Amino acid sequence: MNANRTETADCVVVGGGPAGLMLGVLLARAGVDTLVLEKHADFLRDFRGDTIHPSTQDALADMGLLDEFLALPHADLPRVMLRYGGRDLVLADFSRLPTRRKAIAFLPQWDFLDLLARAGSREPRFRLLRRTRGVEPITEGERVVGVRAEGPGGAFEVRARLVVAADGRDSDVRAAAGMVPRRIASAMDVLWFRLPKDPRETQPFVQAGDGTLIVIDRGEFFQIAHVIPAGTWTADADGLVAMRARVSRLSPAMEERVGALGLDDVKLLTVRLERLRRWHRDGLLAIGDAAHAMSPAGGVGINLAIQDAIATANALAPILRERRPSMRELARVRRRRELPTAIIQRVQHALQDPLLAPARSSRIPLPLRALQRLPFLRHVTGRIVGVGIRPERVRSNQPRRGARSTK
Ligand SMILES: Cc1cc2nc3c(=O)[nH]c(=O)nc-3n(C[C@H](O)[C@H](O)[C@H](O)COP(=O)(O)OP(=O)(O)OC[C@H]3O[C@@H](n4cnc5c(N)ncnc54)[C@H](O)[C@@H]3O)c2cc1C
Repeated sequence: MNANRTETADCVVVGGGPAGLMLGVLLARAGVDTLVLEKHADFLRDFRGDTIHPSTQDALADMGLLDEFLALPHADLPRVMLRYGGRDLVLADFSRLPTRRKAIAFLPQWDFLDLLARAGSREPRFRLLRRTRGVEPITEGERVVGVRAEGPGGAFEVRARLVVAADGRDSDVRAAAGMVPRRIASAMDVLWFRLPKDPRETQPFVQAGDGTLIVIDRGEFFQIAHVIPAGTWTADADGLVAMRARVSRLSPAMEERVGALGLDDVKLLTVRLERLRRWHRDGLLAIGDAAHAMSPAGGVGINLAIQDAIATANALAPILRERRPSMRELARVRRRRELPTAIIQRVQHALQDPLLAPARSSRIPLPLRALQRLPFLRHVTGRIVGVGIRPERVRSNQPRRGARSTK
């Protein structure tokens, strides 16, 4: 690949998802010249998760962005409800969280990413190049000293003190750097489709008992995620008939609407659960799904990606202003974030079977019964889902007075 120009930055972040944009904004606010490369022109991909957890809302508040966030159309979920065998049960309760807001906010992820991109555009040290793909690290010996990229104007190079791979679970940069994640599980897929709804109609967020439906209320329609065992979807008439029958058993009220779906209306999203052993090389750090692909169970992947970004900015911003971080300094990010990630991945793994299992009897499983009998347990699950383990506080930035727009 022939480069036709060379850019420089203190840090180049490949990937403008939750992890990459959050890190870009935090580093730029902390005085680190940061370039974010995003391969798409906009953030309008269909589904990358729509849940912004109380701890992420706290981070937005620390950054002075919470009011702007809350002004976006969103729906608050103060409790996670599950309909199981026709009964409505509480899975998690956020009302006692030690956070400013005590609800998960649902909003399309592109609105959240646009908010971060807007916040970045107000920072003189933040640049976002859209339609620009990070291709591979540039190395000198064993050291990564930048990244080769391709944008609308052709190929170019970015030289930087640090390259951050925040380009998701199929990370190009990670692969080109020879970093291979360990697979933890891949036992499920998700079928993704919309159903029309009456404006006042409500449905429980989770409906289980014969496979699982996650129902996201988008106001004018329901966005449905139907969890199925990995590799079992056949995109043909038989597959569609079987899917309609499962969904109708789970939610009889949806039978007519799901019957009207065609094959083109249903998208298959594959789920993987994996993690890198080492998140860095000299000059390169992977965060978010590039370091640990998350499953949708519990809807926590975005939150973890954001927590990684905060921990990275806290640990590395003061260093990046001055020089390249050492290997030991890079390793600090994994040391801080690996345990919370591993615990949540373990919980996600444990949830896969119950999410997929057909109801064997009308009897409610023991853990669900315990949650109904002992309400304090719902606050424990609320804490795990809403805040996670070892929540990060934003230390590396403050909104800067007089920051100019670079748009
Ligand atoms: C089916 C499914 C449903 C999910 N639902 C939820 C949910 O409801 N809530 C939740 O919290 N989590 C959910 N998750 C997990 C969540 O999507 C991820 O954990 C989260 O998006 C990770 O954020 P990230 O920034 O690390 O990566 P991503 O969100 O994957 O962002 C990576 C970004 O990098 C860009 N990119 C990729 N390659 C390149 C390249 N070479 N150069 C430049 N840019 C590049 C991509 O376009 C993208 O914008 C779900 C996951 C799956 C599979």
